[in-house]
Amino acid sequence: MSLKFYNTLTREKEDFIPIDSKEVKMYSCGPTVYNYPHIGNYRAYIFADILKRVLTYEGFNVKHIMNLTDIDDKTILNSQKEGKTLKEFTEFYSEEFFKDEKILNILSPNKFTKATDYVDEMVSIIKKLMEKGLAYKSTDNSIYFDIKKFKNYGKLSRLVLEEQKETTSLTPQYYGRIKTDEYEKDNVQDFALWKAWDEKDGDIFWENALGKGRPGWHIECSAMSMSNLGEQIDIHTGGVDNMFPHHENEIAQSEGATGKQFVKYWMHNEWVLVDQKKMAKSFNNFYTLRDVLDKGINPLAYRFWLLMANYRTRVNFVWEALEGANIALKRLYKLYIELGEPIGKPNTEYQKRFKTFLEDDLDTSRALSLLWDLVKDDTISPADKKATILDFDKVLGLNFENIKKEEKINIPEEIIKLAEEREEVRKNKDFKKSDELRNKINSLGYEIKDSSEGPQISKI
Ligand SMILES: [Zn+2]
Repeated sequence: MSLKFYNTLTREKEDFIPIDSKEVKMYSCGPTVYNYPHIGNYRAYIFADILKRVLTYEGFNVKHIMNLTDIDDKTILNSQKEGKTLKEFTEFYSEEFFKDEKILNILSPNKFTKATDYVDEMVSIIKKLMEKGLAYKSTDNSIYFDIKKFKNYGKLSRLVLEEQKETTSLTPQYYGRIKTDEYEKDNVQDFALWKAWDEKDGDIFWENALGKGRPGWHIECSAMSMSNLGEQIDIHTGGVDNMFPHHENEIAQSEGATGKQFVKYWMHNEWVLVDQKKMAKSFNNFYTLRDVLDKGINPLAYRFWLLMANYRTRVNFVWEALEGANIALKRLYKLYIELGEPIGKPNTEYQKRFKTFLEDDLDTSRALSLLWDLVKDDTISPADKKATILDFDKVLGLNFENIKKEEKINIPEEIIKLAEEREEVRKNKDFKKSDELRNKINSLGYEIKDSSEGPQISKI
């Protein structure tokens, strides 16, 4: 079996053959740092993480770049609302994002690139597009990409422009132009590469050969990808909702400027739904990692739950499902701990099967079933089982290595409060109340032992 990925560009599962066998170049659209991401957003980053881990497991060297959109319509609007500078506002949410990534055991890319650090590179791509006649300055002084001049516009999202249908027409249809960063497929228009300053931008602008203004959102990713990975890359990831217009526009800008194919494999993850509707800020049906933590659920249970499904299928989020995943994960951890201390050798037969599943377009669902088969398999010694689990975990990222530490960290706030209350009444020699509190802690599944270093809480 060879490594196969579903390529959105061709709508087919294809053998993965990198452009340069020494290094896989991978770019992921990162967060717009204007708010706390919701857990639906994290599906894209967990998916990119699994992809990268599988490539590494297969022996590839991966160079991975992820951007932080720290300048766009939303960051400007929200920073103004909060009365903060754009920099201080976006740095706060970038830090929050980094914390969440750690909690979800997502490996950091080789580099996080901030859009505001690449404005010069964006300007030079825009200039090139203007020289080639693919971009024009409009009456409002903004610069737009002329989509009808780029023959392959729409190839990723499979749009058929009127223009392309009527090749004999002497009067090409005028598409109009759009200045906002986000728009729908039925609103295909020339999009903004450089937005001329207007009052709403306040003190956020650059001044250069293109005039006073700021970049459009789409050009940011073209510039950051090309600057760090070169004109052609192997894999570009993102949520399926970024396919149009964002990725379509990235192709137009990058290929328009270089004349070369920008990305070999486009890979998109599907949505997380709530009540059959996409989890989104705009629908107000979203949850954050803080909500997960508040419920005493291990955030890695969310990762575990996502891995039960293929990244290309929509998943419907309900708390009961996440709680179920949390219990299942705890059971796996417990079984792992019961294997004892010694670590043997990974079982090659299991490793082979594990690889085969992941090579089939990252079938994490079957890989997880195999993990369950492994823990139940009595023919494998506990030490070898342990080594095999740790080997699988290089891809799954469920943090088996640090379980013991994890358990301690995960003692719910409520239990800690009860233990503190018990300490207080003990100091006052109210032993009756102290016993009552101990019983309450026990009834919630925890026990408390008094040691020379103070009370120690553990799970029963
Ligand atoms: Zn992007």
